[in-house]
Amino acid sequence: MEQVADVVIIGGGVIGLSIAYHLGQRKAGRIVLLEKGQLGEGSTSRCVGGIRSQFSTEINIRFSLESMKTFERFEEEFGINPEFRKIGYLFLATTTSEMEVFKENIKLQKGFHVPVEWMDADAIRKQWPYLKMDDILGGTFCARDGYAGPSEVLSGFVGGAKRAGVKIYEGTEAKEILVDQGRVMGVRTSEAEISSPVVVNAGGPYASLIGEMAGLRVPVKPLRRQVFVTAPFHLTNRIFPLTIDFHRGWYFRQEVDGLLLSGPLDKEPSFNTSSDYEAMVEASENAIYRVPALEKARIARGWAGLYEISPDNHAILGKVPCLEGFILANGFSGHGFQHSPAVGKVISELIIEGKATTIDISSLSIDRFERGNLILEPMTAFKE
Ligand SMILES: Cc1cc2nc3c(=O)[nH]c(=O)nc-3n(C[C@H](O)[C@H](O)[C@H](O)COP(=O)(O)OP(=O)(O)OC[C@H]3O[C@@H](n4cnc5c(N)ncnc54)[C@H](O)[C@@H]3O)c2cc1C
Repeated sequence: MEQVADVVIIGGGVIGLSIAYHLGQRKAGRIVLLEKGQLGEGSTSRCVGGIRSQFSTEINIRFSLESMKTFERFEEEFGINPEFRKIGYLFLATTTSEMEVFKENIKLQKGFHVPVEWMDADAIRKQWPYLKMDDILGGTFCARDGYAGPSEVLSGFVGGAKRAGVKIYEGTEAKEILVDQGRVMGVRTSEAEISSPVVVNAGGPYASLIGEMAGLRVPVKPLRRQVFVTAPFHLTNRIFPLTIDFHRGWYFRQEVDGLLLSGPLDKEPSFNTSSDYEAMVEASENAIYRVPALEKARIARGWAGLYEISPDNHAILGKVPCLEGFILANGFSGHGFQHSPAVGKVISELIIEGKATTIDISSLSIDRFERGNLILEPMTAFKE
């Protein structure tokens, strides 16, 4: 293993690998990536791959639009089909306040030329007749949203990073971040000590533990989300959007021959990634409420993963004021997969040029929490 590097990235999920790829592409020197287990074994392999531009804040929309460019030409750039399926996202509003917020969101999104539209309840009923619509006032639909394969996207970044000369070490845990007089000096792993002037925290739900190694409080909590998949089941429409029952915090979409149903999101942080019966019952109840035909569906499997939640449900990106050389790429709050292409790009700009130029990331800096400049959303953010 290398004893000297220019950048060490801790974490081999989609974020760490995208950063590694972009740094490698731009020949940023000796890049080392450390993964304590196997690449992608964290949140990335448990993610459902959702990609959308329907966000309620400008900064998230910018990350979506920039990332979309990569998803669109992924095969060309990486030689791997990312299985990007543009089935659309449909957000359903049940209350007047949800409807008002959704309509405001449309204005914001249209300002970025996002092809989103408001559909009234009748239009939705007509288009997707399997939905129970009694309590629905309408919804927003964007046909360009959809989902892609997390393992395909991860493989693309891994292959690209390796071809660009990045050294990737699996089964190698960062145990200690070496710090001297307010600057990062390197990383001690289970195997060796690597000296490096730049260390990137790309630890997903483990971000706060990695922060602690550098004596820094990174406010990211791991929150479990469970998901379930039915046995083969067909609705009246062959293709239908990822549909979000916003009020119930529930969503579903096609998954091969079955349907993927979201389960509950834990309220208390933990590193628990097991799935349980109660969650399956809750997912089924929500499903049958909104799509009565699903009474006949059988749950075939399920899994759980961890969101990496920040206090304002937005990423924590960039330099740390009091620790030179330590870079954060954390707190994606359930959106890290879809924003990973743009995150890799801006973090590589920050490391190479000293400033992110593609997107201004200053509002995502960690010191916003101390300054009280949290990013406000009109409603609790939806998380896939
Ligand atoms: C059920 C579920 C559904 C989701 N659906 C979506 C979706 O539809 N769209 C979307 O955009 N996002 C979604 N997400 C969120 C998405 O999965 C994450 O935002 C994204 O995967 C974060 O990537 P990451 O690389 O930061 O973290 P991870 O993939 O968790 O990678 C971090 C890695 O760091 C490693 N690590 C930690 N500590 C150390 C250490 N000390 N030394 C070395 N390695 C270390 C871990 O082993 C891990 O592999 C979903 C998440 C869940 C749980």
